[in-house]
Amino acid sequence: MKPDRTLRTAGDLVDAGLLAPELQAEASAVAERYAIAVTPVMAGLMARGDADDPIARQFIPDARERDTTPEERADPIGDLSHSPVEGIVHRYPDRVLLKAVHVCPVYCRFCFRREMVGPEGLGTLSPEALDAAIAYIAAHEEIWEVILTGGDPLVLSARRLADLMARLQPIAHVKIVRFHTRVPVVAPERVDAALIAALKASGKSTYLAVHANHPREFTPEARAAIGQIADAGIALISQSVLLKGVNDDVAVLAELMRGFVELRVQPYYLHHPDLAPGTAHFRVGLDEGQALVAALRGRISGLCQPTYVLDIPGGHGKAPVAAGMVTETGTGCYAVTDWRGQTHTYPPGR
Ligand code: SF4
Repeated sequence: MKPDRTLRTAGDLVDAGLLAPELQAEASAVAERYAIAVTPVMAGLMARGDADDPIARQFIPDARERDTTPEERADPIGDLSHSPVEGIVHRYPDRVLLKAVHVCPVYCRFCFRREMVGPEGLGTLSPEALDAAIAYIAAHEEIWEVILTGGDPLVLSARRLADLMARLQPIAHVKIVRFHTRVPVVAPERVDAALIAALKASGKSTYLAVHANHPREFTPEARAAIGQIADAGIALISQSVLLKGVNDDVAVLAELMRGFVELRVQPYYLHHPDLAPGTAHFRVGLDEGQALVAALRGRISGLCQPTYVLDIPGGHGKAPVAAGMVTETGTGCYAVTDWRGQTHTYPPGR
């Protein structure tokens, strides 16, 4: 049954039948560090009494989140080391992340920014910090693309999103504005004509990267929301995280990628799970990921093929890691090369 509001405590989850009462204390302890939010649409999708349900696994706290392994890091992809001003991450020459808000409609248990998002996280940029971030973008003519991420930028009101776009609009060297969001899938009721209009600005091309990890997430409501965005001429690309017990199965991945294409969302990135604290139970080995991606090649249309990527720990950027693109070092580790040509060692990571 679908609740009428977002569930935010372990008690809410118990009351909704999504958590066994004997697990409430453990889940509350996890939530002291990593917030809970399960939207009505996602709660309605979960199989009651099945902790292994692929939707439940993504959002219901697990005691294993309190175990941190030696290779895990609070900032696994090195945002902070590439942040020249608050709210900006400038890792590659031609693009920046603009993190206007660190709030999300749901809190994913595997989140790579889990130490930054949530009620105890970095919050929303102050007006002064936003001014400084916009000034940074305006002053750096090499910035061709601004990627709004967070947190989830689509938790902002249409008015605030329109204001943000209005501030980017006069910056002539910015041609592309990309939003990374879970909203069309997990909170599709937020998508309406006003929100879609707010994402556009004259002289800019808007891209929206939709985050979904399992084909069941494509509910009728999500399909309608994504269809509305596509009809408005906003280009749609996908992002998914390869997660143990959620989508580490070739049939599930094939259905997920086909689902995106059927919704006019171009498959873009399949992320190897990051070394975020307390997420070891979600991680698959690089060898398993490579085998899954290779199996997809023979199975589904070229339109449906994502690029399998790893964010190299320490902020060295993304690297494609499909079979043949990384080398085993003989110690169980892998050698992976960043976009500058420098080689880094990556742990086995299971
Ligand atoms: S929506 Fe994105 S940023 Fe927010 S918790 Fe999920 S993965 Fe993290």
